[in-house]
Amino acid sequence: MENIRIGNGYDVHALAEGLPLWLGGVRIESPVGCIAHSDGDVAIHALCDALLGALALGDIGKHFPDTSDEFKGIDSKILLNRTMELIREAGYKVGNADITIAMQRPKLAPYIMSMRETLADNMGISVSDVSVKATTTEKLGFVGRGEGCEVYAVVLLLK
Ligand code: MG
Repeated sequence: MENIRIGNGYDVHALAEGLPLWLGGVRIESPVGCIAHSDGDVAIHALCDALLGALALGDIGKHFPDTSDEFKGIDSKILLNRTMELIREAGYKVGNADITIAMQRPKLAPYIMSMRETLADNMGISVSDVSVKATTTEKLGFVGRGEGCEVYAVVLLLK
């Protein structure tokens, strides 16, 4: 395997009123939250898929199946930590990560720094190596109608 590997991850969750919203390991004040088997942290799920993808290790559903009671309601930070163990076992560390969250509401700007810090902590890297960006989709599509939240993640792994 080469010394530099790139990974890309994508995840979507449907939103519903009255559920807790977790993004990037942070609890967000919101009238809607993700429908999920886990805590529904769609940002961490996309990030885990990017990490696994970088080493061609499959995806989050393969490692942490949503049919398993073990993962019911689980804090997605635990999934991220387990994913990081696989990355370290393979002899890699994270160079940097860049995450884009598409969500119509609520406004995520107040939470960006705290998401970056939480993700950096859980990956054992500096906050300057973790980017989290948020965008609406200008009311277009399922994100724009507030029906769901989607996240894109890209990571670089270094040996
Ligand atoms: Mg998911």
